[in-house]
Amino acid sequence: MVILHADADAFFASVEQRDNPALRGRPMVVAHEVVACPSYEARALGIHAGMPLRQVQRRWPQVLVTGYRSGAYEEASARLFEVFRRFTPLVEPGSVEEAFLDVTGRDRGDPRGMAAALRAAARAEVGIPVSVGVGRTKLMAKLASRRAKPDGLVVVDAELEARVRPRLRLDELWGVGPTTYEKLHAAGLFVVADLHGLDEDDLKRLVTTAMARRLVSIASGTDDATIRLPGPRRSVSASRSLPATRTRSKVVAVLDGCVDRAVSRVIALDGPPRLPRRLEVLVRYDDGTQVLERGPLDAPTVDPAALRTAAGHLLERTAYEWDGRGVTMVGVTLPLPTP
Ligand SMILES: [Mg+2]
Repeated sequence: MVILHADADAFFASVEQRDNPALRGRPMVVAHEVVACPSYEARALGIHAGMPLRQVQRRWPQVLVTGYRSGAYEEASARLFEVFRRFTPLVEPGSVEEAFLDVTGRDRGDPRGMAAALRAAARAEVGIPVSVGVGRTKLMAKLASRRAKPDGLVVVDAELEARVRPRLRLDELWGVGPTTYEKLHAAGLFVVADLHGLDEDDLKRLVTTAMARRLVSIASGTDDATIRLPGPRRSVSASRSLPATRTRSKVVAVLDGCVDRAVSRVIALDGPPRLPRRLEVLVRYDDGTQVLERGPLDAPTVDPAALRTAAGHLLERTAYEWDGRGVTMVGVTLPLPTP
C-alpha cells in the first residue's frame, strides 16, 4: 500500500497571501474576533488559532489582519480536490484542505516522485503550499505530513517505519485522548513498543474495545490503510461575514447572496436533483454568540426567489434589528434528502 496524506499549510492564510501580495512573507492572521488561521510567519511569533484577536493586536501590533472569505476558501478547496482526484480516484477527505490518497500501483514505484508532482500541481494550479506525507498506512502518512510541514515532503519507507513505529508515543497517536493516555500511562505503557506481547483482551482492561483493537493493530503494523470515499452530501451551506451592522438592507443583501451561492452548489451536485425541503439561517453577532433559525419550505425547491423569501422570514425571527448587537455573519444551510 502507498498512502499519501496531503495537507495544505495554514490554508486560509495561504489563500489570503496568494490573493494579496502585500500579505506575503508577513506575519498575518485570518481572524474574526478570534484567530482562525495564522500564517507561518505569525506562528513563528507564537500566535496560534483560537487566540482572541484583541490580545494578538495588543501584543504584536505589526501583525496584519484579514477577514474570513469563505467563498475564496471553498473555491480553493474544490480546486485542490480536483488536483487530488487527478492522481487517484481513491481520495478520503479529512477536512476542506486535507485528504488521504491511495496511490498504490499508480506511483510506478516512485512514491516520492508522485508526492512531489502532487505538491507541484497544487502550487501551480491552486497557488498554495501543500505538505505531503507518504506511508504504508494512514497513521504513517499522517505522521509524515505533520513532520513535513511547512511546505515539505516526508516519505516513511519500510526501513524508516521499522525504526519509527516502535518509538511512537501513544499520546501522539490520533484518537488517543488525555483520559485514554492516562490509563495507558498508569499501566506503564508509553510508546508502541510497550504494547508488544499484549493482546486485545489485555488492553480491553484499560481502554475501550475499539481502542484496544486499534492499539494492537498499530503495534503489529496492520493499522488502517483503507480509503473511505465520502457519501452523498447531506447539506449545502454558504455563509459570509460582514462588518457589524443592524441595517436591514445590508444584512438581507448578504443573506440573499448566501442563498444564491448555496443554490448554485445544490444544482452543481452530481446525480439526480435533490430538492431541499427545509432551510436554516444562521446569524452571528458581534459578541460572538450565534442564533440558528430553521423551518420547512412550502414546497421542495431550488428556486432562488422562493428560498430568498423563506430565508428572509427566518431572518426576521431573530429580531436582529432590535437586538442592539451588530450582525457580523449570516449563513444558510439547505439540508438535502438522501438520494
Ligand atoms: Mg492543513
